[in-house]
Amino acid sequence: MPVADFTPEFKRSADNDFDKLKLKLNEKARVVLLEKPTYAWVHTLRAPKIVNGQPVMEKKKRGGEEITDYALDFIGRPLCTGDDGILADDAVDPKNCPVCKRAKESDEVAPPERRFAVNVIRYGLQRDGSTISDPFTCTCVVWGFTEGVYNKLYGIAQEYKNRGGLIGLDLILGPCQPPEAFQKFDIMAGSESVWKLDEKLTEVVVKTYQNNKVENLEVACGRKTELRWMKDDLAKISARWRQAHGAEAETGGSAGTEQADLNTGLSELLNTKPVTNTTSANSTAQWSPVTPEATPAEQKPTTSEPTPEPQPQEEKKDAPTDFKSLLATLNLGG
Ligand SMILES: [Zn+2]
Repeated sequence: MPVADFTPEFKRSADNDFDKLKLKLNEKARVVLLEKPTYAWVHTLRAPKIVNGQPVMEKKKRGGEEITDYALDFIGRPLCTGDDGILADDAVDPKNCPVCKRAKESDEVAPPERRFAVNVIRYGLQRDGSTISDPFTCTCVVWGFTEGVYNKLYGIAQEYKNRGGLIGLDLILGPCQPPEAFQKFDIMAGSESVWKLDEKLTEVVVKTYQNNKVENLEVACGRKTELRWMKDDLAKISARWRQAHGAEAETGGSAGTEQADLNTGLSELLNTKPVTNTTSANSTAQWSPVTPEATPAEQKPTTSEPTPEPQPQEEKKDAPTDFKSLLATLNLGG
């Protein structure tokens, strides 16, 4: 059990106290973006889960193949302190960020990834999730998402670029696929944008957005931490990997049997039936950075995934800042 201290790192920031878009298992949602997302570069820090001095192994699907790999604990998600320009060009900024520096030296730490956050209007739906609730209700929540979701939204934005674009377009999300924690769901455009159906609805939606939107979305992307906490986390990660590799070395044998022995040993320890060894010989080298929301199917080397042209910096600047300019940017005619 973690021990708390009365120091800044343990203080929960009130900045983070806002409602987030979260779907329950099998749930659907209907939302509309009235602004462009902001983004920040963040590191997702993970380290092997150690129980009784032994690393915990788990089965993972990677590239359609089932492998056995280290189970990882979430350590933290600090904002990268690298320079935006350098990160956009080089993917890491070892000069300005200690985590980037470590990411360059070792694969125990992943390079930063863009994480996005945007205020969205979520419509109240009927119990079956198919139609808008009566009476009409809506809430303004923060939708935090990864590069993968950004790419899906980018695809929709391209498809609708001559029909008003993504902003103001109803999106249907879901149903949310298991496990719920991954928040994995399909995204498609609605056939109509409910908030544009009549003036009353438009007013309720725009006012809900105006009065409840979160201004500082950076905190929704990652955690602003002091350098020393980042360094503490890096030390913790190194120690865990040393422990994981140390325990493995004690088991002895070649790389292939090592894994099998470990699995059997762990299974005995946990009093479950032995796990079939589906691990390839070099499984320990297969640790690669994955986003926390990535489903097992998405867990593949990042290099194999083509990404569309990113839309950098300018995204932030021209977001509508007040009610009138917001309305002006939206195609209210439908
Ligand atoms: Zn960094």
